[in-house]
Amino acid sequence: LTKNRTEGSVVPTSGMCVTCVDGCIGMCEIGKSAYRGHEVIYPQPFGVITAAAEKSYPVDYSHFNIMGTATGAHGVEADSDKAIFPAVNLEVTFGHDNGIKFRRPWIISGVGSTDIARNNWEGLAIGSAVAGTGLTIGENVVGMDDEAVFKKGRVVDTADLKRRVQLYKDHQRDGYGAIIVQANIEDTRLGVQEYAIGTLGVECAELKWGQGAKDIGGEVKIRDLAKAQLLHERGYLVLPDPTDPGVINQFERGGFKEFERHSRVGMVSEESFAERV
Ligand code: SF4
Repeated sequence: LTKNRTEGSVVPTSGMCVTCVDGCIGMCEIGKSAYRGHEVIYPQPFGVITAAAEKSYPVDYSHFNIMGTATGAHGVEADSDKAIFPAVNLEVTFGHDNGIKFRRPWIISGVGSTDIARNNWEGLAIGSAVAGTGLTIGENVVGMDDEAVFKKGRVVDTADLKRRVQLYKDHQRDGYGAIIVQANIEDTRLGVQEYAIGTLGVECAELKWGQGAKDIGGEVKIRDLAKAQLLHERGYLVLPDPTDPGVINQFERGGFKEFERHSRVGMVSEESFAERV
């Protein structure tokens, strides 16, 4: 985590001290990023946290109020005896033919190949399915699955994706809610959505253009040489190159202890998007 030299006098838009001084060791977010960037690319402790940020922006959602209305009602009959809050209907339908229906108007966005996602999947899947809302399986779940089977570079069987989809579907009620499978560049190349739709019966897909949290692709740390080589073979960018004999030698001698697996950022164009749809 970070600190400021001038505690209590922090510029909200940058997270910096109001007077940034030459010679400071740089405990703030910007300072740490500058000299320990390769470490803070993965917020610590890696694998058990979901990262947010320490900045506060001049305008955020807390500055907006959802105002009710003094006349009429939405989602319930405008009758004083009937318009009580547990009776309000929050159902929504959407999609090109309004064929997707949710009991509650929210969706959990991409929860992917991270340990956080894997460890909490039961609660997320069963909770969303029972509530009749949407849950999105994020990127790289197939690529990171040791048990996934590929033929000619395309996925034909999985353990993790299958488990995630099944858990949701087993608890879905009356057709409400949806399990959505997201795809980034690597997922698309591996044929993840074709497999999810064709084999697992998934009905909703999300084409991923970029990252909600940052302007680089998704990344994780890999502490195992064989896994790093597997991901390299599956088309991921793995740094340093785990097939390079010099790198292997250095890793085995303890010169470094972790590889980085990066996924690419989608460079969307209107034409390519339309073609894919
Ligand atoms: S580097 Fe500058 S902004 Fe960051 S903690 Fe030090 S003085 Fe503050």
